[in-house]
Amino acid sequence: MKIEKDSSVKISPVLEEFLDPAFIYVPKALVVPKYVFKGQSFGGVYSSVSGVVVGEEKDFFVVQNDYREKRKTLGEKKSKILKNDFDSRFKDCKYIIINAINDEVYAINRVVGLKVRIEEILEFLDEIMQLFDVSKVIIAIKSIDMEIVEDCLDIVDAYSNVSISLLDDKYLLGRNEFLLRELNIRDNEAMCFLVDDFLKILDEVKYGRVCDTMLVTISGDALNEGKIFRIKKNIKLKDILDKVRDSLESSYVLVAGNLLNGRVVSEDFIIADDVLSIHVMKKKEFRTQKCIKCGACVDVCPVGVDPLRCLLEDKSDKRCIDCGLCSYVCPSYIPLRNWVTKDEE
Ligand code: SF4
Ligand code: SF4
Repeated sequence: MKIEKDSSVKISPVLEEFLDPAFIYVPKALVVPKYVFKGQSFGGVYSSVSGVVVGEEKDFFVVQNDYREKRKTLGEKKSKILKNDFDSRFKDCKYIIINAINDEVYAINRVVGLKVRIEEILEFLDEIMQLFDVSKVIIAIKSIDMEIVEDCLDIVDAYSNVSISLLDDKYLLGRNEFLLRELNIRDNEAMCFLVDDFLKILDEVKYGRVCDTMLVTISGDALNEGKIFRIKKNIKLKDILDKVRDSLESSYVLVAGNLLNGRVVSEDFIIADDVLSIHVMKKKEFRTQKCIKCGACVDVCPVGVDPLRCLLEDKSDKRCIDCGLCSYVCPSYIPLRNWVTKDEE
């Protein structure tokens, strides 16, 4: 399904950097560490800077950046990758799919992430293809984003087994299972990676390091022009919003993630690496009205859930993938998704 977009919302595809935050925020551990190294794990979240813990805020330690980028152990760049570097998932697959599609309404992280590291990505893919005898790589891009990667076409052309597949701007293709269906490829024939996930693997396998930066799109109709930033992981939203504050309208609401299923957050929100976009939107009033029994919510559900029944029977449904389409299509503005997922936020 195509999601309606406001054509006046513009995003600059030029990547900007904000890599020197004064503080980052990592989940609290049982013991307060004396010194935090870059790459140190806090319950699976890796510190993106080195420094000392100077305080606590809710569930986070506040780490003051000492700008020394100190790691406990240094990763080594590999001259050659080995089969053992991977799990058995590549075995027997015919295709590798690189998914450069964002489902977030106004976000272009993945296609920009692909563009800025295209050479490394292609070299790494080439090594994997030879190692596991994979015959073809497909890079999936939305045709509306093609302009962003035009400069990369010559580089891609040099790899005869790699092709770019241009797809319509349809919602949910940013999820691998729906992308495979669109490409008519069976699950067991392909390994499918989101660009961001593939880059994490590349950094770990080739450079022996956990990536400490991430891309985030800041965009929406309350901003003159959206921007895409490379930032240190786990900074406060306020820090990055300061970079675009001049072009912000006076009144706005912040949504972390997709407009269809994201959550309203404050400027104190910590941007972890699963947050691809922040939408800065004008405030609008939607008053929930009575259900008119049109059935649109049932028809649109991609996994066969009956959201109306969930609403009437006050129960959730485990099959729900939390895409938000039922709420999106409802002419009565009923937040059906909240019922189906029992999301209290
Ligand atoms: S949010 Fe859940 S119930 Fe609603 S359309 Fe998506 S999958 Fe179906
Ligand atoms: S889309 Fe809204 S109005 Fe239509 S049946 Fe579903 S809940 Fe009722």
